[in-house]
Amino acid sequence: MPLTPEQIRFDQQHIWHPYSSMIDPPPMAPVESASGVRIKLGDGRELIDGMASWWSVIHGYNHPRLNAAAHAQIDRVAHVMFGGLTHEPAIELCRKLVSMTPEGLDRVFLADSGSVSVEVAMKMAIQYWHARGKPNKHRLVSLRHGYHGDTFGAMSVCDPVTGMHELFSGVLTKQLFIPRPTSRFGEPLRDGDCDALEQTLHEHHHEIAALILEPIVQGAGGMYFYSPEWLKRARELCTQYDVLLIADEIATGFGRSGKLFACEHAGISPDILCLGKALTGGYMTLAATLTSAHIGETISAGGAGCFMHGPTFMGNPLACAVANESLSLLQERDWHADVGRIEARLRERLAPAAELAGVAEVRVLGAIGVVERREPVSLAQVQPLFVEQGIWVRPFGKLVYVMPPYVMNDEDLAALCDGILNVLTQLER
Ligand code: PMP
Repeated sequence: MPLTPEQIRFDQQHIWHPYSSMIDPPPMAPVESASGVRIKLGDGRELIDGMASWWSVIHGYNHPRLNAAAHAQIDRVAHVMFGGLTHEPAIELCRKLVSMTPEGLDRVFLADSGSVSVEVAMKMAIQYWHARGKPNKHRLVSLRHGYHGDTFGAMSVCDPVTGMHELFSGVLTKQLFIPRPTSRFGEPLRDGDCDALEQTLHEHHHEIAALILEPIVQGAGGMYFYSPEWLKRARELCTQYDVLLIADEIATGFGRSGKLFACEHAGISPDILCLGKALTGGYMTLAATLTSAHIGETISAGGAGCFMHGPTFMGNPLACAVANESLSLLQERDWHADVGRIEARLRERLAPAAELAGVAEVRVLGAIGVVERREPVSLAQVQPLFVEQGIWVRPFGKLVYVMPPYVMNDEDLAALCDGILNVLTQLER
């Protein structure tokens, strides 16, 4: 049933959408259903989904195996508290996470969302140093243009200007920021590119718990791809200065950048790893924070005797069962070939955008395609244009970008890229 005008009005008057206004509510496209790579609107139109619902729907919508996993689990137990109780979906999911993530990460905390997994990672780092008798090591170092979530701890490590949280700056913990790497992906490390990091660690290591970064791909803070050599050096510097490395792979995890985890581009393991988004194939919210046995045991041997976090919906069995199946699907499919194919198509089909006067740069890595314009786009202006082209693309600032489900075929990829080019061409006039 299509939404009625009254329902749409109610939505506009009463419901907050991400980053939306209650005075000037943005227009919303009503979704009827979604299947494969297509989102069906209330008026019957179908859109090819370029966003995978913000990096998460890697296997496509309405997947029979994910549906079956959810149905089966709902008939057993949809939710049960994780304090004092455990269950197979959580155990089997964590077993998979331990085996597929970079070496040494084998203690898992199941969190409720990406932002919460970042909070958990920060708390782990702080609690670790506390347990080691160094409570002064509680600050974080972060990269400019980074984005780590919308909760208070996460906001404090987002870029203070472009990170969307500037107005809270007065109440956020003051962290230390260094410029993002200037060495781009595929380029050798530029001279001096690690100097700011080294200097910050040198001067402040006695008060730094961890460096937090999005490995290789900075997402919401600029869709920017940087050199694995920089990341490799950052790992070395963290070890040298006794600072933990937190890798936020909430966006990049599970193959998106062309490696199963973006850290693999640099052949490094972080001390703490945050995962989310694609973990459940985009079916529901679930995230995970992994760390080493050493950090897990040190925290537990500290004064508190345990790790101080435990949300109501921790380890939700329904989400774990779907995540489990999503990871099985990923392991069974040749995701690497899919991502490689999408990368090739995006390179080929988005390249002509670079010729447009209003476009500053086109860049592609794995199943991520980015067209950076010289000027910001107006969402209100472009959103209907994309819908007219039969595609779902949601730009922010100067960035028109896509990260399609891995199951998108060449024909749909071509239609997606052509639709983007058509809209960008219209914006030139
Ligand atoms: N870290 C990164 C790198 C992200 O891209 C996001 C979400 N865009 C988050 C953290 C926060 O995740 P969530 O929205 O699930 O809280």
